[in-house]
Amino acid sequence: MTTQAESYEFQVETRQLLQLMINSIYSDKDLFLRELISNASDALDKLRLERFHDDTLDVDTSDLHIRIDLDAEARTLTIADNGIGMSRDEVVDLIGKIANSGTAEFVRQLKEAQREQEGEQTEELIGRFGVGFYSSFMVADRVTLITRRAGQSEATQWESAGEATYTLQALDDAPQGTSITLHLKPADPEDRLFDYTDPRKVREIVTRYSDFITWPIRMVPLAAPEEEDVPEFETVNSRKALWTRPASEVTDEEYAEFYRRISHDWNDPLETIRLNIEGTLQYQALLFLPERATANLFSPDAKHGVQLYVNRVFVMDDAEELLPGYLRFVKGVVDSQDLALNVSREILQQDRQIEAMRKRLTKRVIQAVKGLATNEPEKYGKFWGEFGRVLKEGLLQDFANRDAILEVCSFETTAQEEPTSLKGYVERMQEGQEKIFFLTGDSRPALESSPYMEAFKAKGLEVLLLTDPIDEVWVDGMPEFDGKQFQSIAKGEIDLDESGESEREEQKEQFSDLLTWMGEVLTKDVKEVRLSHRLTTSPACVVSDQNDATPQLVQLYKAMGQAIPQERRILELNPSHPLVEGLRTAHQARPEDARLAETAELVHGMALLAEGTQPDDPARFVQLLATQLGESLTK
Ligand code: ADP
Repeated sequence: MTTQAESYEFQVETRQLLQLMINSIYSDKDLFLRELISNASDALDKLRLERFHDDTLDVDTSDLHIRIDLDAEARTLTIADNGIGMSRDEVVDLIGKIANSGTAEFVRQLKEAQREQEGEQTEELIGRFGVGFYSSFMVADRVTLITRRAGQSEATQWESAGEATYTLQALDDAPQGTSITLHLKPADPEDRLFDYTDPRKVREIVTRYSDFITWPIRMVPLAAPEEEDVPEFETVNSRKALWTRPASEVTDEEYAEFYRRISHDWNDPLETIRLNIEGTLQYQALLFLPERATANLFSPDAKHGVQLYVNRVFVMDDAEELLPGYLRFVKGVVDSQDLALNVSREILQQDRQIEAMRKRLTKRVIQAVKGLATNEPEKYGKFWGEFGRVLKEGLLQDFANRDAILEVCSFETTAQEEPTSLKGYVERMQEGQEKIFFLTGDSRPALESSPYMEAFKAKGLEVLLLTDPIDEVWVDGMPEFDGKQFQSIAKGEIDLDESGESEREEQKEQFSDLLTWMGEVLTKDVKEVRLSHRLTTSPACVVSDQNDATPQLVQLYKAMGQAIPQERRILELNPSHPLVEGLRTAHQARPEDARLAETAELVHGMALLAEGTQPDDPARFVQLLATQLGESLTK
């Protein structure tokens, strides 16, 4: 029986919440539609469930859907569902009151934060609580809700202008489910209040936020009315929430299409990763490793590729809280069942469950890369070429996964053309070899012909050629792999010389004067001059002390705006080189000859050039060289 509308007062808290909505705590007003669609979708889920448990319930569940109707003249937007609906009591409890005591607390805290004008805190608070239905009042100055509970005959109409009161009226005749009509405020695009009777705008919002809602969302087609055979409505959401379907039922083509849609990449994904977590925190993830890196991957404002959904409703892009920075190239969707729709970044950052989720997702992605490395070398090669440099950032950022990351890394090596894994290197290590040898620098050819390599080549010892700038940094702090320490062949004492003890003693004796004298001449630049056991054909090389930073590392830090001191280095001489031997005899014969000091300087400068660094004063170096060359011609 239809009755007269009766007026009721809102609770104090509800009134306060409404005021906040009217005064717009959200800057993005489009969100009202996301909230209402999400409520409608829940109502459809609930009906399906209730019907499942109670087959005596007299309802038609054959065409469950959501429908949006726009009326530009009346300036209304109506969203209707044929879901569970609400009884009169439920309307009073659920819509008229703030049933949830948490929300009342939220309103109290929010008012406080606003009073103290703590903008950030307000944002954070909003994200903690669902504000759902009331967000209608951001865009409407009057809202009419008509609802009939499944299985009941009487319907209820609720209406309010968002002020102190609402009215309730019983209706005898209403479709089962809920319809909400928003009497829209005048559009004010400057305040991001758009014209929500514009079908294009509404479709855009639906596809942005609610594309993967499982239930069809229907609207009148966009086609001009005079056209014939225009269907009465069309479904505007794709509904393809692939992550909610069993993996066995989804085809590669469907994954690829979905990937292209969310990534704006033309290519197919290189690898698809699925994760379905049940338990205290319930979520699904559908992630992709792309085939190509985007151009801005290394720029400081590079976006993360993962989107966060809550119950199939889009919540945010670029969800950097879900995966660490070194996995920013991963694209995809994470859908959580336990977060509020309006969860904020601040909350994600603090939430312990999000932390657990991030850990899990990170492990899963690394595991997928490992899968490629072990089973699909070709794909892995492609992946590594595009993303290896990014992944290696993880060696510096993610202590907990450092070993797992190291395991999937690959590096250029002297042993073969193609890159090697560390495991491969260790398997090829020679008997008695205890360390993993490496050399860092700009390019493979430069490293291969470097003087440090001489003895290693002669002995057939494999050396990793680390040519990424970031290699300098991680390798510096990496204790070991598989129990084997990393050893730079340009650092510390390397002894591959097999000459006997007595022979060495003799050499030491012979060269001792020369070494002391050169140490004095070059004291500004080097802390020690010693005989080398790593050179075969070059006269000299400079090495860093085991614990000192290499010049490349110093440069790298400098480029990042951090100054670290460059310690003086060590000059090593090859006693069997004619230049060194000649210098020794000349110094013995004419210790006072000033020319010899210049030769010593030249030897040091050449050693620097050979490793790819410049002598401190290149002009002086060239001058000395020119003079000596000139003299050698006139003799
Ligand atoms: P929330 O969705 O966060 O619970 P809302 O204020 O949006 O908060 O909604 C309050 C309650 O009103 C919902 O939990 C639901 O029980 C009921 N409700 C809202 N919209 C609908 C609808 N379309 N159909 C049935 N019930 C609804």
